[in-house]
Amino acid sequence: MHALRTISLWMDQLDEPLQARPALQQDIDVDVCIIGAGYTGLWTAYYLKRQAPHLRIAILEARIAGFGASGRNGGWVMGNLLGEDRLLATLSARQRRESIDLLHDIPDEVQRVVLQEGIDCDYRKGGVIYCAARYPEQERSLRAYLDDLYRQGMSEDDYHWLRPEALAGQLQVSNAYGAIFSPHVATIQPARLVRGLARVVERLGVALYENTPAHDWHSGEVRCAQAKVRCQWVVPAVEGYAASLPPLGRYQLPVQSLLVATEPLPASAWERIGLSQGQAFSEGSRQVTYGQRTADDRLVFGARGGYRFGGRLREDFHLSETEIGLRRDLFGDLFPHLKQVRITHSWGGNLGMARRFRPHMLCDRQRGLALSGGYGGEGVGASNLGGRTLAALILGQQNHLTAQPWVHDNRPLSSLAGWPPEPCRWLGYNAIICSFVHEDRVLADPASPAWRRHLASGLAGFMEGFMH
Ligand SMILES: Cc1cc2nc3c(=O)[nH]c(=O)nc-3n(C[C@H](O)[C@H](O)[C@H](O)COP(=O)(O)OP(=O)(O)OC[C@H]3O[C@@H](n4cnc5c(N)ncnc54)[C@H](O)[C@@H]3O)c2cc1C
Repeated sequence: MHALRTISLWMDQLDEPLQARPALQQDIDVDVCIIGAGYTGLWTAYYLKRQAPHLRIAILEARIAGFGASGRNGGWVMGNLLGEDRLLATLSARQRRESIDLLHDIPDEVQRVVLQEGIDCDYRKGGVIYCAARYPEQERSLRAYLDDLYRQGMSEDDYHWLRPEALAGQLQVSNAYGAIFSPHVATIQPARLVRGLARVVERLGVALYENTPAHDWHSGEVRCAQAKVRCQWVVPAVEGYAASLPPLGRYQLPVQSLLVATEPLPASAWERIGLSQGQAFSEGSRQVTYGQRTADDRLVFGARGGYRFGGRLREDFHLSETEIGLRRDLFGDLFPHLKQVRITHSWGGNLGMARRFRPHMLCDRQRGLALSGGYGGEGVGASNLGGRTLAALILGQQNHLTAQPWVHDNRPLSSLAGWPPEPCRWLGYNAIICSFVHEDRVLADPASPAWRRHLASGLAGFMEGFMH
C-alpha cells in the first residue's frame, strides 16, 4: 500500500492517486507565504483569494496536503471553540450571544463552501450526543456542564438534556443515564475536505508546493532547503508541528490523539446502535472520547493519546495492541455486541494545545505575521473560523470576525502565554492524564466504595483545574 494511504482510514478511502505536487525549487516573491497545507493554511488562502484575487499566495507543505491532523481527525465539525466560556466571560450578555451565534454558524459556513465549491466530503449535520453511559457520576457532571452552558447564555435550542428513552431514539448504548444533545456539530470525511480545499485554492490561483518543509522563518522571509520565499506576510499554519519551527513551539504543546475504525457494519448492527443522521457522539469521561458512523457504515472511535518529553513529535502511528485495546474496550463498554468486531484501521496524529487551553488568532502587523491555533483537539471547525479571521486581519478589515476576544490584533507572538520548560510540562501532563485514567477506572467499577469514588473524582477535578 502507498505509505501515504496508511496515514488514516480517511486517506486510504480517497480515490485520487496521492501524488505529491512539485516542490519549490527557486526563490519566489509573494504577498502571503503560508506554511502548512492543513485546514488552517488552506482556509486562510481560500478566504484571502475569494476577497482579493490579485494577492500572490504560496503554500509550503512539508509532505502533502492533509498529512497533518487535517487528514487524520475524527471528523467532528464543531460550532464552538475550546474554552469559549472563559474567553466570553468578560463580554456583555448581548455580545456573548453574538459571539456564540458566530461559533454555532461554523458548521453551516463549512457546508456553504463545500456546496459552492463542489467538495464531496460526506458532510452531515446530525448534531452531537454527549452521553452518560458508563457510571452514574457522568450524569451528574454532564448535568452540571449543561447548567453552566445555560448560565453562559446558551438556550435549550442550543443544548438540551435527553432522558434515556429519548436518547435511545438516536443512540442506543448500554447503561444509558441520559445525554446532552446539541445540533451545532456536523460530521465529515476529513481527508476529502482537506484534499478538496487544496484543489479549490489551486484553482483560485494559489501556488501549493508539496515536499517542501520550511526550515526557518522570520519577518518577510521563509527558507526551505532549495529556495526561499520573500513575502509581506508569513502565516505559520503547522499546529501540532509547531515544535519543529521555533519559536512557535513555546506556544503549542504537541499532544497525540489516537483512533480506530471498524469494518463496515451490517444494517442489523446499526439498528441496535442508531446514529442514522450522522450524529457525532462522545461519552462523558475526561479521557476525551469521540466517535461517528461513517458514510460507509463503519464505527470510527478515538480517545486522547499522549505527550512526549520535550514536545517530541510522534512520527510512527502504527498503534500498539494496548492502544488499540483501550479504544476497543471504551467503545465495547458502550456497545457490548461490538466487542469482537474487526478493526481494519488504526492511526493517530499530533495536535496543538495552547497554554491555558486558549485558542488564538493573532496578527503582528509590524512583523507581517498572522497565525491561528491552540484549537486543542477541536480544530476542524475552529480552523475555518481561524482562516476567515486571518484573511480579514491580513486584509485590514475590522468586522465581527476581528472583534472577538480570541483575536489578538496588532500584538507580537510573545504576547501569547507560553508553556513552562521541561520537566514541568511532561510531569504536569502525565500527572493530569493519570488522574483522569484512575478516575475512570474507579468510577467504572460498580464495586468501588463511595469514598474512593469521591477521592478519585476530586483529584481528577483538581488536576483538571491546573489545565486552565
Ligand atoms: C487524531 C486526531 C483527531 C482529531 N479529531 C478532531 C475532531 O473530530 N474534531 C475537531 O474539531 N478536531 C479534531 N482534531 C484536531 C484537528 O484535526 C486539528 O486541530 C486541525 O486539523 C488543525 O489543522 P491545521 O491546519 O492547523 O494543522 P494540520 O492539519 O496539522 O496541518 C499542519 C500542516 O503543516 C505541515 N508542516 C509541518 N511542519 C512544516 C514545515 N516545517 N514546513 C511546511 N509544512 C509543515 C504538516 O505536514 C501539516 O500538513 C483531531 C486531531 C487529531 C490529531
